Amino acid sequence: MKCNPIPEREDWFITDRKPTICPRCSKKEVRKAVLGYPTEEDFFNDDIYLIGCIPDFPIKRNWGCRNCDAAFFKDTPRNKAALGGIVPHQWPKD
Ligand SMILES: [Zn+2]
Repeated sequence: MKCNPIPEREDWFITDRKPTICPRCSKKEVRKAVLGYPTEEDFFNDDIYLIGCIPDFPIKRNWGCRNCDAAFFKDTPRNKAALGGIVPHQWPKD
């Protein structure tokens, strides 16, 4: 598995799949990230990471650690471009 720390943020990672164990705090608390208001099903779902309604990222994280809030981004050209500052803050809203 590739899981490369992003130099500017020690708690942000680009990875090619969801890490089972958080590389930052070594806990098994990495979950799929859900942005904004969760559906009722998600709200009671213990198996997700809730981002909240005001994300402070150039692009939505794919997964988050519920223990230390580390952010994980899937290794895609779109994510890397957004995170590399090449095309910052220009992605359309979902
Ligand atoms: Zn963690």
